[in-house]
Amino acid sequence: MDYQQFFADKISDLKAEGRYRVFADLQRQAGKFPNAMVHMGDEVKEITVWCSNDYMGMGQNPDAIKAMQDTAGGYGVGAGGTRNISGTMHEHVLLEQELADLHQTEASLLFQSGWIANMTTLSTVGAMIPGCVIISDGDNHNSMIEGIRHSRAEKHVFRHNDLEDLENILKTIDPDRPKLIAFESVYSMDGDIAPIKEICDLADKYNAMTFLDEVHAVGLYGQRGAGVAERDGQMDRITIIQGTLAKAFGVVGGYIAGTKAMCDFVRSYGTGFIFSSSMPPAVAAAARTNVNHLKNHNELREQHQERAATLKQRFREAGIPVMDSVSHIVPVLVGDPVLCKQASDDLMERHNIYVQPINYPTVARGTERLRFTPTPHHSDAHIDHLVEAIKEVWSRLGLKAAA
Ligand SMILES: *Cc1c(COP(=O)(O)O)cnc(C)c1O
Repeated sequence: MDYQQFFADKISDLKAEGRYRVFADLQRQAGKFPNAMVHMGDEVKEITVWCSNDYMGMGQNPDAIKAMQDTAGGYGVGAGGTRNISGTMHEHVLLEQELADLHQTEASLLFQSGWIANMTTLSTVGAMIPGCVIISDGDNHNSMIEGIRHSRAEKHVFRHNDLEDLENILKTIDPDRPKLIAFESVYSMDGDIAPIKEICDLADKYNAMTFLDEVHAVGLYGQRGAGVAERDGQMDRITIIQGTLAKAFGVVGGYIAGTKAMCDFVRSYGTGFIFSSSMPPAVAAAARTNVNHLKNHNELREQHQERAATLKQRFREAGIPVMDSVSHIVPVLVGDPVLCKQASDDLMERHNIYVQPINYPTVARGTERLRFTPTPHHSDAHIDHLVEAIKEVWSRLGLKAAA
């Protein structure tokens, strides 16, 4: 076999479909968020970022920058090992306490990313509980799907956010078998939100555990930023809460929160936890600063929601097809991968606006979209500029207006 030819052919397939991914070569600049520099060949120019998951601009919180600098100066840059073999730094311990306090749980457990937290926790729980059945929302993130697959547990998929379908599946499973319902709170591509209370009611009725991915909600919902489960008063009903430090908290890393026994179990049996070196202490210190900051600044969450509502309203007034979203995510439907990429390229090249095209397999074919994530740092002037630019691109490319 010609291996190199195989690799090149697979890439040609993606290009033919118009969904070959090109990364924007960015240089963020602390203090200028949401603006950044982009490198395009020899050209470097300033653009406004409209698709960052740094939803609150916490990546450049001056206190977090200082915490990272001070901690790197004090500890050095790396942790020096896995958690078990010399790699547990006091900063990890403090961050786990901060996260357990955020979620009002007995304990929490850190991972290098949210992806690894999902993969490790679901695969470990699913594999180790004898006869475990996992019932998974149809729109769950890749990291959950991979974790469930790796567990080799029996898996059922319920239609996205569909309580009737979920209950129909629960009814068919032997009442004596251990069960886990795995779902997210905010689904980040459509911006819809799970009926957490009703899912917990079903979990109680059928004696199932719940696993809730709050990656796109931590820092953003609830009085202290613990997520939608906090907002909805359901936090104490979730068996395993999972979150990231890389989105609203602006740094990197993932975690789970729950009982001492559950966290200790994953700590002791989860290979993705055991066999990987721990995060740098400076990263943990910066994350802890931001978790604590957002805990105490609910007004940022109010500003964030206001910006999202304003942007949706402005798009609607301009006839731009905003998809239904009840969250801070503002998706705009294009419905074609080539045009979606073209719209994104035009916004960058002609208007200095950066929004990444979202194509298959991140979303279903035919629902290709631009996904805008306004933050409290996007001003009225940023929004005015965006709305004018998108109107120009929509009319020049002949894209579909709102129905
Ligand atoms: C981004 C994401 C993850 C992974 O989190 P990282 O910390 O970026 O690895 C997990 N779940 C969902 C729903 C996500 O969107």
